[in-house]
Amino acid sequence: MKAANIGQFIRDIYRTDQFIPLHAPTFAGNEKRYVIDTIDSTFVSSVGKYVDEFENKIEHYTGAAKAVAVVNGTAALQTALYMAGVTVNDLVITQALTFVATCNVIYHLGASPLFVDVSNVSLGLCPVALERYLTEHASLTELGCVHKQTGQLIKAVVPMHTFGHPAQLDELVSICLKWQLTLIEDAAESLGSTYKGKHTGTIGDFGAVSFNGNKIITSGGGGMVLCKNEAQGIQVKHLTTTAKMPHAFEFFHDQAGFNHRMPNLNAALGCAQMEVIDDFLASKRLLAAKYSEFFAGSAYQFVIEPEYAKSNYWLNAVICESHEARNRLLTETNYNGVMTRPVWTLMHHLPMFKNALRGDLSYSELIAARLINLPSSPIDIRENK
Ligand SMILES: *Cc1c(COP(=O)(O)O)cnc(C)c1O
Repeated sequence: MKAANIGQFIRDIYRTDQFIPLHAPTFAGNEKRYVIDTIDSTFVSSVGKYVDEFENKIEHYTGAAKAVAVVNGTAALQTALYMAGVTVNDLVITQALTFVATCNVIYHLGASPLFVDVSNVSLGLCPVALERYLTEHASLTELGCVHKQTGQLIKAVVPMHTFGHPAQLDELVSICLKWQLTLIEDAAESLGSTYKGKHTGTIGDFGAVSFNGNKIITSGGGGMVLCKNEAQGIQVKHLTTTAKMPHAFEFFHDQAGFNHRMPNLNAALGCAQMEVIDDFLASKRLLAAKYSEFFAGSAYQFVIEPEYAKSNYWLNAVICESHEARNRLLTETNYNGVMTRPVWTLMHHLPMFKNALRGDLSYSELIAARLINLPSSPIDIRENK
């Protein structure tokens, strides 16, 4: 299979001679109506009915006990880590194969990321690698889980559901229980993906979702903290809205809170997008099936959902047979107006995380050298049956 054939196949799917982006949002429902409604009502900012409605929709859809809307997925992750008690000098275990936001929030709480490898089952944090790292390098003390060489506390584990494919959560949950670690799912990419029938982001202690413009649904910018229990959800709401005590006119704040509120304007867009998320999911799964069929038997290994999961196929991906083959495909498609992308530079290759503690990362390195993301915007189901 030649790189040029792949570009042509993608053009045929999207039925266009124009530039094909990696992931563009689709607005075909009530988006304009709801956004205009916020302007007409003057409630465009931190107060308004769409914020509550968006939270209710996400709770209902995912089954989270409480969903709290915030300004973006990064803020959702930061809030979850803060709730887990992550603070100065702590360690947080995560994957090197992720978007930089996962590590930035750890850094900005004064803690440091510690990298373990990803799994070839899910491209998410590998439970075998995690257990091995902890067994070799950590011990459980009365203070909690301590890193033996540095004496730092390991507070939390943050698996990321890469490209929407759910990580091996049962195994990760039991390792976290055993080692007294808080499990926070970076579900920024995986709204709509389920693990053994449960929504990603609702299985760990907390989950963080993103509604950035390139995600499966968008609120322009936005995020949601998914909470396992309602009491924590109430705390998260309080914390992310400046920790103001309710009062008719006095300003009293009982802790140093965040202003992470999602504006009503953005929530309006999010509400409209939630009305059509099932159509997007069906469309994206159909697109993935087309890619899967096209690449079957070729030298390109199309990334499919793990057998225990149903993925939203947020970003489609292929693993090429070599780094050179990856570069050829990237060049051919991008120079011909079909946007494809290599995966993120691994976190320990970025200057700010180059000294981070880490285990063996050989599978992450292989994926970074050979994986390419393919155009993944929803296709029109009616035309593509
Ligand atoms: C998009 C994304 C985020 C951040 O979400 P924003 O809404 O852009 O802040 C965090 N982690 C991962 C893995 C993401 O893909």
